[in-house]
Amino acid sequence: MSANFDAFFNEIQSKLGTDAVNRSDETLTRYGENTMPGGDRRPAGVVYPASTAEVQTIVRAANTHKVPLYPVSTGNNIGLGSRSASKAGQVIVDLGRKMNRILEINDRLAYCVVEPGVTYQAITDELMRRGGQLMLDVTSGPPQGGPLGNALDKGAGYTPYFDHFGFACGMEVVLGNGEVLRTGDGSIDSDKLVNWHTSKYSFGPILDGLFTQSNYGIVTRMGFWLMPRPPAVQSFHFTFPDDDDLEEVIELCRPLKMSNFVPTLFRVANDLYLSASEGQSKEYGSGKAFSTEGRRALREHFGLGAWNISGAFYGPNEAAMAPMIQRVRDHFMKSGKARYIDHEQAKSIPTLQVAINAFSGTPSLGELGLLKWRPGGGNIWFTPGTPMDGKIANEFQHLCRKIYEDHGFDYTVMNVCGARFARGLHVITFNREDADESKRADACYRAMAKAFAERGVFVGRAPLDYHDMHFAQTMPGFRQACTAIKQALDPNGVIAPGRYGIQ
Ligand SMILES: Cc1cc2nc3c(=O)[nH]c(=O)nc-3n(C[C@H](O)[C@H](O)[C@H](O)COP(=O)(O)OP(=O)(O)OC[C@H]3O[C@@H](n4cnc5c(N)ncnc54)[C@H](O)[C@@H]3O)c2cc1C
Repeated sequence: MSANFDAFFNEIQSKLGTDAVNRSDETLTRYGENTMPGGDRRPAGVVYPASTAEVQTIVRAANTHKVPLYPVSTGNNIGLGSRSASKAGQVIVDLGRKMNRILEINDRLAYCVVEPGVTYQAITDELMRRGGQLMLDVTSGPPQGGPLGNALDKGAGYTPYFDHFGFACGMEVVLGNGEVLRTGDGSIDSDKLVNWHTSKYSFGPILDGLFTQSNYGIVTRMGFWLMPRPPAVQSFHFTFPDDDDLEEVIELCRPLKMSNFVPTLFRVANDLYLSASEGQSKEYGSGKAFSTEGRRALREHFGLGAWNISGAFYGPNEAAMAPMIQRVRDHFMKSGKARYIDHEQAKSIPTLQVAINAFSGTPSLGELGLLKWRPGGGNIWFTPGTPMDGKIANEFQHLCRKIYEDHGFDYTVMNVCGARFARGLHVITFNREDADESKRADACYRAMAKAFAERGVFVGRAPLDYHDMHFAQTMPGFRQACTAIKQALDPNGVIAPGRYGIQ
């Protein structure tokens, strides 16, 4: 049976009011926009629920009229799809417009409960208004993005609370069949929910993970654990001069994370990742990757290295952290190649200030400058991982650098390093208004995805353009399980068909 959009929108308008639907030409254009090479994805309409009950009404109407929905929370998934749907012609469920309340902040137990539209900026502002005793781990991306959508896409930050799904606790979900599910301790059939947002491992299977990078339900509220805001943050930074120093850098970072001596993750960014935030490429138009001489000049200009390492300590004051900083300094300096940049100096280097903000739970716009490195606004993120093994990390660097260069792009990457694993955030910036460049960006992403899959390495998140391709890279048993769960929870397949490859 085919979709009956008119009947669907009529039903939503009659039940939720006329302002719950927008199908104007301008709105459809805006919601279809994204930064990927595959082009915009114009939706069939946008609906704006104001409550969980209204989300249920929308999902039930979608089942009746066989209409595909696509939920977004704040819709700031820049480089991965923005607020475009999996496929053109789906109906965007914009939860952020009306469901944007901070439902609870528990100062004693340090958690908050939010609706989908609450942004990083909004929650940080509210926590500061209450005296700044607590902070939410943020991304170094858009401050108008939000914790709920980010955690559902398995996003991450940089403090000890970096794992946004890991530090989430308790969800409310409208399943594809219209039923409401509460996860964790919230699953008890009671009106009194004491531990919903404090206990993750309650009775029965852990269902929360089913709603990350999937399309089984629409999440309408979620709890997040908050970190006590440290009285002082003291960052440290090192530069290394050569591309191949990555091997040694990874070897140096690993033991400091393995013992958890350094509480933050390490941001290990290359020269272009940091300097590209500060202006458009002067070599754009040459058709080639940014030159070695050009990179050298940028490093000198910004006081950076080929690789730039940032981390931070937390403590009562600067003096208390001085011995820790000294220990890290001794550790890195024994390489004989590192140059140290202290916290005060780093504050005057805008791209290092971005790292300090991220370690301090402060949303900031600085890193978004990266997207203007080339004109035309195109950007996609390729996010493979590497074990924290210097030799392997360096092999992957060589592999990616060559593929970028073969396609005429500038190798731009930050490795976010933990104890055993680093996520490689590779951004491909390209001129989306240039058809040839868009085609090359697409080919570049696909070539890297293929090369890494051949080596048994998968991505952490993916731009919408590549969900089908990556899903096809999974083992048959994984695909069958995902499809079976979809059929059980969303039998008519109304929620985001195609998201992360699941139909
Ligand atoms: C320069 C730059 C730096 C960045 N840095 C980081 C970083 O440090 N860490 C990081 O994680 N990301 C980063 N990003 C990526 C991205 O911008 C953020 O992760 C952003 O917060 C995600 O978008 P959002 O919060 O607006 O989520 P949304 O766009 O609202 O949601 C993301 C996706 O999740 C699904 N979804 C959303 N809400 C729901 C719901 N209620 N129910 C079911 N499914 C839902 C949708 O399919 C949606 O497309 C960066 C991006 C840029 C451009």
